[in-house]
Amino acid sequence: MARIGFIGVGNMGGPMARNLVKAQHAVRAFDPAKAALDAVVAAGGQAAASPAEAVRDAEIVVTMLPAGRHVRSVYAEVLPAAAAGALLIDCSTIDVASARDVASQAAAAGFEMLDAPVSGGVGGAEAGTLTFMVGGSDAAFARARPILEKMGRTIVHCGGPGNGQAAKICNNMVLGISMIAVSEAFTLADALGLDRQKLFDVSSTASGQCWALTSYCPVPGPVPSSPANRDYKPGFTADMMVKDLRLAQDAAQTSGVATPLGAAAQALYGMFVARGQGPVDFSGIVRMIRGEV
Ligand code: NAD
Repeated sequence: MARIGFIGVGNMGGPMARNLVKAQHAVRAFDPAKAALDAVVAAGGQAAASPAEAVRDAEIVVTMLPAGRHVRSVYAEVLPAAAAGALLIDCSTIDVASARDVASQAAAAGFEMLDAPVSGGVGGAEAGTLTFMVGGSDAAFARARPILEKMGRTIVHCGGPGNGQAAKICNNMVLGISMIAVSEAFTLADALGLDRQKLFDVSSTASGQCWALTSYCPVPGPVPSSPANRDYKPGFTADMMVKDLRLAQDAAQTSGVATPLGAAAQALYGMFVARGQGPVDFSGIVRMIRGEV
C-alpha cells in the first residue's frame, strides 16, 4: 500500500483515483470542484483542502489537470510541499515544453518526475485499461509501473522527460487525420452508391485498414460499439481533439517540422467545433464532411 496524493479528479482523474483506492492505496485527493472530490471520498479516499495538503507525506503524487498552465501552477505549490523522495507523475495531456520545464524544476528541487499522459478516454479510466505513454528516467519508470498498472493495461516507456507527451500528440495527430480520411471515403462511397458495409468489408481487410475504420467507424452500422451508433455521444470529444492537434502543431512549429495534414486536420476540427460540435465525439466530423452540420 502506498500513500498517494492525487490532484485533479475530474472525468479522467476521478476514476483513476478510485481505481487506486480499490487497489488498497491510501489516496488523498485535491480538486477545487467539490462534486469531483466528493466522488473520490465516497469511494474511500480522503479529501485535502489544497495541493500542498494532498501531497504532504505522499510517496507518490499523481496530477491529472486540464492544460500546461494548470500543471505549472499546481507544481509551484507541490514542489515546496512534497515529502523528500516522493515520485511525481503528471498524467495530464500538455505541451512538451511545459512537461520538460516542470520536470527540470522538479529535478532541481530533488524529485524524480514522469510525464505519463494517457489514451483510452473515460471508459478506459473507469475500467483501468488506459494506455500510459511515459517520459522520464528508467529508475522513476520502474518505481511508477506498479502504480500505473492499477490504472492502465499498457504502459510504454517512451524515453526521457517530455517523451510521453511527444508520443501522445504524434499518435493523436495520426488519429485526427485518419478519422477525416475514413470519413471522406465513406462520404464518397455514399455518393457513388457503394454500400457502407461493403466498403467496410473491403477496407478493413485491405490497405485502407486503420483504427479509425475498424474500431471506431464514423458511420453507423459496421462497428456496433462506435459512437456513430449512439448519435456521436463521446467517447473523445471534438474539443479534446482540437486541443491535441493544437499541441501537435505547436510542437511541429517549434521543431521546424512540416505537418501539413496535421494542420489541415486542426483547421477542420476547429470548424466543426465552431459549429457548436465541441462536446460531440470527434468521429462526428463525418457529419460536417457530408454537409449536415
Ligand atoms: P476535467 O476537466 O474533467 O478534469 C480536470 C480536473 O482538474 C477538474 O476536476 C478541475 O476542477 C481540476 N482542476 C483544475 N484546476 C485545478 C487546480 N489548480 N488544482 C487542482 N485541480 C484542478 O478533464 P479530464 O477529461 O479529466 O482531462 C484531464 C486531462 O486528461 C486533460 O489534460 C485531457 O487532455 C486529458 N485526457 C482526457 C481524455 C478524455 O477523454 N477526457 C482522454 C485522454 C486524456
